[in-house]
Amino acid sequence: MDLLEYQGKQLFARHGLRVSQGSVVTNVEDAVTAAAEVGYPVVVKAQVLIGGRGKAGGVKLAADESELRENAANILGMDIKGHIVRKVWIEHASDIASEYYASVLLDRSAKQPLVMFSTEGGVDIEEVAENTPEKLIRQHVDALTGLSHGEAVQIATVGGADSDVIDGVADALVALYEVWLQEDATLAEINPLIVTPDREVKALDAKVSLDGNALYRHPENQDLSDSENEDPIERRAKEEGVQYVKLDGDIGILGNGAGLVMSTLDVVAQAGGAPANFLDAGGGSDAEKIKQAVDLLLANDAVKAVLFNIFGGITRCDEVARGLIAAFADIKPSVPFVVRLDGTNDVEGRHLLAEAALPNVYPAKTMNEAAEMVVALAAGQPVGASA
Ligand code: GDP
Ligand code: MN
Repeated sequence: MDLLEYQGKQLFARHGLRVSQGSVVTNVEDAVTAAAEVGYPVVVKAQVLIGGRGKAGGVKLAADESELRENAANILGMDIKGHIVRKVWIEHASDIASEYYASVLLDRSAKQPLVMFSTEGGVDIEEVAENTPEKLIRQHVDALTGLSHGEAVQIATVGGADSDVIDGVADALVALYEVWLQEDATLAEINPLIVTPDREVKALDAKVSLDGNALYRHPENQDLSDSENEDPIERRAKEEGVQYVKLDGDIGILGNGAGLVMSTLDVVAQAGGAPANFLDAGGGSDAEKIKQAVDLLLANDAVKAVLFNIFGGITRCDEVARGLIAAFADIKPSVPFVVRLDGTNDVEGRHLLAEAALPNVYPAKTMNEAAEMVVALAAGQPVGASA
């Protein structure tokens, strides 16, 4: 779950990281009020879940009210790489002496938290990593002991932070580590972490992703999810209590059980296809549930074919088949469905489907066969006769 900058800064402040005070607003008049509160000059910042706002014109300084009005009016409604700006954050502008970079994330391959620091902040950190990797310090942290102030001093020193702010940078790194750890974040990043002419160290930007699966441990973070920026179909699935994930391909995938769904994704990829989404129907798939699932899968226009992969256990394949027949009578999908039924009552299930003779439904016996068929159908190629 990605947070907007101002939300990330709220978490930073909670853990003692220095940030500028400000307000989030949705219109020019409120921006004027907010700017008067923090005092000019101010900075107007687009709140969207995408980086590079500065380069795109979504971060602007304003010396007075007329500049503020102009900038706020320009930025509100702006399209930044497909993200429409509905909120702007107004904070008192900072004077900048240096721009550093700091982040904490989980290094999955090392199975350890990783702290990164560079004095080359403010710019694309990927470029620093690629062109001058020696300027990006990478330090693993022992998860049991955490990041000590001494280790943080070491990172800041090796990274080449100005000697008079090493202590301040170390404090910021420790606080950032605490944000990452205590808020169950998957990423906590500050770019730039600035040094002001008064030698204050402070976070000018915030990029925080929280682990959605740990959200139950943080009721106070529950409402940070920005529903405007969420995929509307994923939001609907969440509201309906269905496990649904959007991907970038053109094949819709529906299965029962997380393991089966995961392996279905793999088999489709192996057959040369690209999943558009996947949905776990879970156990006890009655007609209503299947209709809901098919509806959700097809809400994504990118879907050109659907693979329906059911392994019957407690879920009986004949019930699934009945559900599918009932759902199709209602929805009448325009894209082909490959249906693989295996396990409890699979013979009855396939028999029911054959009897119903649904147009554009193709039965398959094995997962591999089903994957190959759905990949061909998505590519517009003919396969064997439909059921
Ligand atoms: P991003 O482009 O989405 O990463 O947005 P940032 O919040 O990092 O802002 C982009 C750039 O705008 C920063 O690297 C700064 O150079 C500049 N900037 C942002 N806030 C201020 C500020 O308060 N004062 C000054 N002088 N520059 C700022
Ligand atoms: Mn930034």
